[in-house]
Amino acid sequence: MNPLPTMPHEYRLRLPGPVAVPARVQQAVSECVLNHRGPEFRAQMAAMQERIRPVIGTDHNVLVYAGSGTGMMEASLVNVCAPGEAVLACVNGQFGQRYASIARSLGLDVEELEFAWGAPILAEAIAEKLKTKRYRAVTVVHNESSTGMIADIAAIGAAVRETETLLLVDSVSGLGGMPMRQEQWGVDVLVSASQKALSCPPGMAFASIGAKARAVIEREDRLPRFYLDFRKALKSIDENETPFTTPVSLVAGLVESLQMMHEEGLQNVLVRHTRLAESFRRGAAALGFSIYGDPSLLSNTVVALEVPEGVNGGAIVKMMREEFHTIIAGSRNKLQGKVIRVGTMGDFDLHDVLTDLTLLEKTLGQLGVKVTPGAAAEAALQAI
Ligand code: PLP
Repeated sequence: MNPLPTMPHEYRLRLPGPVAVPARVQQAVSECVLNHRGPEFRAQMAAMQERIRPVIGTDHNVLVYAGSGTGMMEASLVNVCAPGEAVLACVNGQFGQRYASIARSLGLDVEELEFAWGAPILAEAIAEKLKTKRYRAVTVVHNESSTGMIADIAAIGAAVRETETLLLVDSVSGLGGMPMRQEQWGVDVLVSASQKALSCPPGMAFASIGAKARAVIEREDRLPRFYLDFRKALKSIDENETPFTTPVSLVAGLVESLQMMHEEGLQNVLVRHTRLAESFRRGAAALGFSIYGDPSLLSNTVVALEVPEGVNGGAIVKMMREEFHTIIAGSRNKLQGKVIRVGTMGDFDLHDVLTDLTLLEKTLGQLGVKVTPGAAAEAALQAI
């Protein structure tokens, strides 16, 4: 047998998810495993539901699955679509494309409503499309992690609300770090996951179902579904149970991370994300990075930076890891080498931002870019 891999001594996880998990959450995850059908766990699930509903902006309980965000994207489609129904997939980045690919793989009649990467998704364009055909669903990514762009879900919801079409929203990397008002904005199915702005380990995913979607989900003629059948989950969630084994340790972790968010104040959490993401961008600009995307819709949770001329993004990511044990992301798509991304989500603070910027400054210097020592941290501090 090969020896066990050793854990890195220093390790700064600064990805756009998964994120570093705060000590309180780690502690909660490591408590004893509860019986998923017992009263202790049901109390924990109730505490989780009570704390997550205001983050989502819903009065309903949220469906909980062992799985990842992609699983919930697929679940949203199999539960609302009948074979061959039409889906309008809004695409302005990699995860918008993923929603479209999942829908295609399910045999649905998929039409992509394409916008340039980094450009906004226009609610008016969706409204125009909905006049031309009966789409069962529109898919939109709330926070496009590949580009650091947000979608105006309130405007898109207003365009879809009065139609027969359902609005499916991926807020895998937004929920917890960006405002979400599911019921007010008319989001019919909202999907998310544990490992991003909710500051938990990966492995748990959610779907929050609105009333308009529920009526469709209950129909017998939808796509084949078993584990992901929302009807089963809807039956037991108000009893604080899930149809199959719940990832109980992750629920315990989520209760704790949500509790931390409530202690800070949900509004304060959002303000912290906004201020620190902006401060990060100002600091990065002082290093010669350009901010990727339309400036009116920049994400609070993912900072996407175009690398300076003559530098490869992959080299920055590699040096940050090898020299400084700091894990940031490059791009695994058409922006590869050109855009790097850093998570500004979850339990992070100004010290993280200043450390990241200082290490990026060192990295660029070592890669031969002319930088002014201290300029990035100074710009970040001035912005705050
Ligand atoms: N959607 C968005 C916006 C994401 O950022 C991600 C993951 O990075 C996903 C979906 C997929 O989530 P998962 O990797 O948990 O399947």
